[in-house]
Amino acid sequence: MNTKVGTAEDRITGHCACGAVRFTAHGPFRPFVGCHCESCRRQSGHFIMATRCAADALEISGEENLSGWRASEQSTRRFCKTCGAHMFWVPDDGSTVSIFAGCVDHPSIIPAGWHIHASEKADYYDLNDGLAVYPLGSGLP
Ligand SMILES: [Zn+2]
Ligand SMILES: [Zn+2]
Repeated sequence: MNTKVGTAEDRITGHCACGAVRFTAHGPFRPFVGCHCESCRRQSGHFIMATRCAADALEISGEENLSGWRASEQSTRRFCKTCGAHMFWVPDDGSTVSIFAGCVDHPSIIPAGWHIHASEKADYYDLNDGLAVYPLGSGLP
């Protein structure tokens, strides 16, 4: 499992659908991981793919346009107040931030890695893209 992509020299940029929230992040990045937990599915409308970087590697402009939802006791999901774009998943430990793939401008520098929380996957789609599938998410990078 390749858990690190790129270096601190590598940058991604992105924005929400309406453009009120923009960001730049530098590597190293985690590959895009598909999360099939019920919380991701219900909030996003399907499942999410997210990369991740160090918390201090992410710079947000228009942060006042973000709202947050405490989806669990350990994390906050951040989304644009205007367009509702799901952008960031922030664990309380403050070490990292997950960045949702749909907001990234040129995501192709980051490969898809694996799927997590497959035990909560909905039954209307299959996971057959050849990536590793894990029933839970804990203990993985
Ligand atoms: Zn927006
Ligand atoms: Zn999830």
